[in-house]
Amino acid sequence: MLFADIDYLTGDFSVAHGFVEVIDGRISYVGEADPTLLSAEERVAAGIPALESAGTERYAGYGKLLMPGLYNAHAHAPMTLLRGYAENLSLHDWLNTRVFPFEDKIDDQKAYPATMLAIAEMLRFGIVSFSDMYFFSDARAQAVIDSGIKANICHGLLSFDPNVPYAQLPNKAIDDHLIASYHNSCDSRLKIELCIHAEYTTSPLVVEAVGQAAVDHGVSTHIHLSESRSEHEECRQRHGGKSPAEYFESLGFFRQPCTAAHCVWTEPQDWQTFKRNQVTVASCPASNMKLASGFAPVPQMLAAGVNVALGTDGMASNNSHNMFRDLYLLALLYKGSAGDPTVVTPAQALAAATSNGAFAQRRLDCGEIKVGNRADLLVLDVDVPWMQPAISPLNNLAFSAQGSDVVLTMVDGKVLYRDGVWPTIDVEKVARETSEATRGIIASL
Ligand SMILES: [Zn+2]
Repeated sequence: MLFADIDYLTGDFSVAHGFVEVIDGRISYVGEADPTLLSAEERVAAGIPALESAGTERYAGYGKLLMPGLYNAHAHAPMTLLRGYAENLSLHDWLNTRVFPFEDKIDDQKAYPATMLAIAEMLRFGIVSFSDMYFFSDARAQAVIDSGIKANICHGLLSFDPNVPYAQLPNKAIDDHLIASYHNSCDSRLKIELCIHAEYTTSPLVVEAVGQAAVDHGVSTHIHLSESRSEHEECRQRHGGKSPAEYFESLGFFRQPCTAAHCVWTEPQDWQTFKRNQVTVASCPASNMKLASGFAPVPQMLAAGVNVALGTDGMASNNSHNMFRDLYLLALLYKGSAGDPTVVTPAQALAAATSNGAFAQRRLDCGEIKVGNRADLLVLDVDVPWMQPAISPLNNLAFSAQGSDVVLTMVDGKVLYRDGVWPTIDVEKVARETSEATRGIIASL
């Protein structure tokens, strides 16, 4: 596909105008001149691959903005089943009286359509890849394979008996199976990570062993960290004064790249720990507000040089995969909570939603429009009243754009959403199956 005569977002978050060509899943050309006017010899001389065929689609860019797709750094896709079911409760009551009993009734047959529905929603709003922590991992992997989206999947690990080692948990065999079957499959679209649900739901014995397994397999990890104040403070009481970040580091858990969700109650020394160990913070501002967990110190973490990405979290605590809403919150709310209107700039918020998320997922050839990168892109319709005048497209993107302005989402050069159509997903079917599954579970509780 050739995006022709189109405004596009550059790596330094300015807007340029010209042509962006995609061949074989990668960006083959970015520039002011129309590359189709070059002869075959001129293309070779300029280092541009030959055109696949004369039929390559020319996408008319008038009134459109092309930008990197969004990387959702923290999600629980099958929790689409719980959308609207557990509302206005504390984290403790939300988990114990609503979420855990409901989750006991989910199985692979229910998780597959729910994951497909979540993926359809993510693609609709320009998400090209998501980091997902949950159960029913074969069903989730199949949904990723079938839909064409990218994902870093990990199988949830909770273990309350301090004496049971990782090797004796069902997770060990599941993790080994997932890594052997799916890690870096589909041309690296699908990656597997190892999970520790959180400090308070696992033992040091297990944390240490999972950290070692991540080293042995060469895979990344995904955890929840310092989401609530009680979690943060009780960890200090349980583990000789160590914060959750210090606790995980002391057990060797951060030797592989890690995505730590929330990090609301982290402190200055924790940010140094993150920076030292290349831990990405997946901030989930909507979820943190909904569960009254607090406001993460995002401005301070950014100032400390921490890689901060952005997550939607699960649909029981957000309740939308419209990541433009999370982008808006990230760009807005820390000005209020920090009492400083200069913090978290639109460029920082956009980086969190794009390149920082791609880095967290170790997708180093993704997240930016440049030659050689994978073509993970979205197109916004900017010929709408709320994006005018366009004197600062960057400010418009952070504060004015709507997720529903997305008109095209492309992953590895394949169009997975365009103008109300999902070529790889039967949205009506998966929505109906998800609704039926939810009603069935509620009736059985
Ligand atoms: Zn979560």
